[in-house]
Amino acid sequence: MIRENIARTEENIRQACELAGRRASEVTLIAVSKTKPLSMLQEAYEYGCRDFGENKVQELVEKYEALPRDIRWHMIGHLQRNKVKYIVGRVYLIHSVDSLRLAEEISRESVKKQVTTDILLEVNAAGEESKFGLPCNGAVTELAAQIAALPAIRIRGLMTVAPYVEDPEENRQYFRALKQLSVDIMRKNIDNVSMDVLSMGMTGDYEVAVSEGAGCVRVGTGIFGERDYTNSAGE
Ligand SMILES: *Cc1c(COP(=O)(O)O)cnc(C)c1O
Repeated sequence: MIRENIARTEENIRQACELAGRRASEVTLIAVSKTKPLSMLQEAYEYGCRDFGENKVQELVEKYEALPRDIRWHMIGHLQRNKVKYIVGRVYLIHSVDSLRLAEEISRESVKKQVTTDILLEVNAAGEESKFGLPCNGAVTELAAQIAALPAIRIRGLMTVAPYVEDPEENRQYFRALKQLSVDIMRKNIDNVSMDVLSMGMTGDYEVAVSEGAGCVRVGTGIFGERDYTNSAGE
């Protein structure tokens, strides 16, 4: 089932790219495996998937230890400063940086471990109160400039979690706004800041996100099926 789901998702991405005049190779599919057992990740891995997204530090670390080393782990959930030390050196990209203090901690830990950590700035594009992330405005540029001055950390782009909607077209405006913001920031030519990664689009709306320029889409349910939170504290 997982193989078919990935194949179908990849085909949908390919078609969305074709319609938008983009190359399918410009889009990375991140399999969001949070709450899912290792056996399911293994199946996705065997199919060829190398990018996995997790939103909890402990779960990411446990899966990192158990699975092959060529997997690129993406931290996509809210990150507390006291947990940064567990993922620096293990994670390929942190999608959810939304404060200078968090970036400082990532920088400090990266210096200590002698690695460079790539990050995205999380933007709350729709301004939803329930969500983390920076407001979608010039404040992001200011924060980018401050973070760029820190050692061993590199800003690669922006990430957003769009609202849950019935009609994915409703989210097009937010994807477009994120793309525009990334263009605005790029034009500032800040040292150490590139804007080559736009992480946007989930199961319900990734095709729209691709048509607006997504470079990473984060698909969970569409690959692994519905998540069961009955025995956990939830998301
Ligand atoms: C859970 C999650 C996803 C995947 O959501 P689906 O709707 O299952 O595809 C994507 N991004 C983030 C940040 C998530 O927490």
